[in-house]
Amino acid sequence: MGIRTGAQFLDKLNSMRPHLVINGEVVSENLTEHPAFTELAKTYAQLFDMQHDPQYQDALTYTSPTTGDPVNASFLVPRSVEDLKKRRAAISTWAEYSNGFLGRTGDYMNSALTALSTAKKFFEKADPIFGERIEAYYEMARENDLLATHTLIPPQANRSVSGSEQLGGQLSARVVEEREDGIVIRGARMLATIAPIADELLVFPSTVLRGTPEDAPYSYAFAVPNDAPGLRYLCRTGLHNGGNKHDEPLAGRYDEIDAVVVFDDVFIPNERIFMLGRPDLCNAWYQETGAGALMTHQVVTRTVAKSEFYLGLASEIAGAIGIDGFAHIQEDLAELIRNVEIGKALIIAAEAQGELNEEGVFLPHWETLNAARNWYPKASQRFPEIIRKFCASGLMALPGQADLEVAGEDIEKYLQGKSLTGPERIRLFKLAYDASITGFSGRQALYEYFFFGDPVRMAGALVNSYDREPVRARVREFLTREK
Ligand SMILES: Cc1cc2nc3c(=O)[nH]c(=O)nc-3n(C[C@H](O)[C@H](O)[C@H](O)COP(=O)(O)OP(=O)(O)OC[C@H]3O[C@@H](n4cnc5c(N)ncnc54)[C@H](O)[C@@H]3O)c2cc1C
Repeated sequence: MGIRTGAQFLDKLNSMRPHLVINGEVVSENLTEHPAFTELAKTYAQLFDMQHDPQYQDALTYTSPTTGDPVNASFLVPRSVEDLKKRRAAISTWAEYSNGFLGRTGDYMNSALTALSTAKKFFEKADPIFGERIEAYYEMARENDLLATHTLIPPQANRSVSGSEQLGGQLSARVVEEREDGIVIRGARMLATIAPIADELLVFPSTVLRGTPEDAPYSYAFAVPNDAPGLRYLCRTGLHNGGNKHDEPLAGRYDEIDAVVVFDDVFIPNERIFMLGRPDLCNAWYQETGAGALMTHQVVTRTVAKSEFYLGLASEIAGAIGIDGFAHIQEDLAELIRNVEIGKALIIAAEAQGELNEEGVFLPHWETLNAARNWYPKASQRFPEIIRKFCASGLMALPGQADLEVAGEDIEKYLQGKSLTGPERIRLFKLAYDASITGFSGRQALYEYFFFGDPVRMAGALVNSYDREPVRARVREFLTREK
């Protein structure tokens, strides 16, 4: 089949029967018509349609090696720096269209699957069958253009003990039965962004397993269809208040509902199990397979588009109300420019220093990407702050679109900007509002800070993995100099 259209994506969604809990109701059918999911589903449908649009198709697709059909370019196994650039072009096409506000465009999990499908030697350490299964799953996902979410971490009941120790081991999703034909999973995990509109859930390793026998039931990787019997999603309340695109331009399009995942004895057939009972390999899952590198390549590419959006928005606001000449405004604009250029430089540097791994896959340079993923979660926290600072009370002096009907003259006269009419200005400031002080913007900031892992522990991982010996040796050598 290859790339799907938006209509095919929506039809499949409506044919599924997941168990979604939201706002006091259980939703299991006609998902695309439910007010909490409808706008997000439409947004994702647009992304699927872009794959068929001549304007975007070259960037977004490549030819399937098995069928000759066009498939999404995030499934391309990179064998050269050119392939990495091809992947980036596809990723940034969707990211620029959504201005980086969508964290779970298909290319995110596709990137993980692409690397995993090649990692034969890694899977051989457990059993080659796992490598064969994930390659078959990757091909199925590629040829059917599936949209996946994932869930990695145990519930947040007590972080002072490991997931396997919480509530005597009864909380976190674990293997409760191993059968001839598969396994049975019971317990919970968090978090699954876009769970309500995904086709598949990837339940990949939590990489903080202790390697003890007690952790073995928590050591697995598998994939499950989103409407598998026994699978339940507890969705958070939506952040779109039902307003139109003028008044809620971001929340009205991009509210990627997050959900806690409950496994109530979910059966996983053997062909969908990719790792079992090997905490050591689960902990190495992202690093040794290249999945971490290709996912981070996707993330950094997306976040460049988001940094550009905030630079563009801040610049429009500054021009609109005549504050762009003030020194402290320019200082903040300079900070936004720096962030755009740092992001771009890091991604290009990661590609330029890329290398072939032992499977012949050309992976971007990990140290550079690792620096990027440690930098952006903190740098991006300033973006909404800068927007609030630029707009000040303008964020509150903000009637909605409907008010144009009843107070058009006042809006025209009193809410005009230096370079914008009143209606143009309120439209721009509604965007600023949604990008800086709404629940939607708060969730975006939280997302950028945490979604790729706890920054504290990511900092520890960076320090512990970075080879600092050459620079330390230079300092020691300097200390020995007499002249
Ligand atoms: C909006 C959003 C969307 C997300 N989407 C997904 C998704 O689609 N799929 C998915 O799998 N995950 C998702 N996540 C989860 C993400 O992976 C986690 O937020 C992240 O790994 C941090 O874990 P936590 O939230 O459980 O925080 P916790 O681990 O509970 O941390 C809470 C606080 O305690 C501190 N802390 C806890 N333990 C330690 C420790 N051992 N050492 C030092 N400090 C510690 C942390 O620094 C933090 O300040 C999402 C998160 C957010 C916020």
